Amino acid sequence: MKHPKEERTYVMIKPDGVRKGLTGEIIRRFEQRDLKIVALEMFNPAHDKINDHYPKNEEWITRLGNKTLSTYEKYGYDAMVDFGTIEPAKIGPEIRKWLIDYMASSPLVKMVVQGVHAVDVVRKIAGDTMPYKADMGTIRGDFSIDSPALANKEKRAVMNIVHCSETPEEAEHEIKHWFGESEVYDYKRFGVDE
Ligand code: ADP
Repeated sequence: MKHPKEERTYVMIKPDGVRKGLTGEIIRRFEQRDLKIVALEMFNPAHDKINDHYPKNEEWITRLGNKTLSTYEKYGYDAMVDFGTIEPAKIGPEIRKWLIDYMASSPLVKMVVQGVHAVDVVRKIAGDTMPYKADMGTIRGDFSIDSPALANKEKRAVMNIVHCSETPEEAEHEIKHWFGESEVYDYKRFGVDE
């Protein structure tokens, strides 16, 4: 069992976050909450590496489709008109493709964030996946208003500034995917580790 302070999560600042000049602000919010940045890099993403980052299973892809459908229903939009189908399993792959094209469209910043309940706390700091729903005081709630209602009309993914892992298991998998062992650092933070 790991010590509670050793929980780690994987975060990527997405193209809209980098291009809005939010890199420093995002890191500041994690550090302010006593979380520790233990790996950090800006890089140009390869399309294939992004493709392998996002799950390929049907459950995850259908979930993407369902998110669009529920927003379409709420606002009275017709998925048939925009997607030619109302089946979430068929809408999902289209959204996954938009997501990968979007993620590969500009430099990204990747990092590993460590601390107590790092996975849940980072997701809380990030806010709801859909920025229009995200609470004020969260990264997405303070710096974006995007929604699938708009994004899907424009045939693109929802721009929500950051990616962060959903579970500790997913985090370990994503950290291995994006960083070598020697690129993740070990140091003691004043006031947190000593
Ligand atoms: P999270 O990033 O909060 O874990 P998901 O794993 O559900 O959210 O989705 C991955 C990413 O796909 C989201 O961050 C968002 O950029 C994009 N996305 C999710 N659902 C939709 C949708 N219905 N339409 C467009 N883009 C979406």
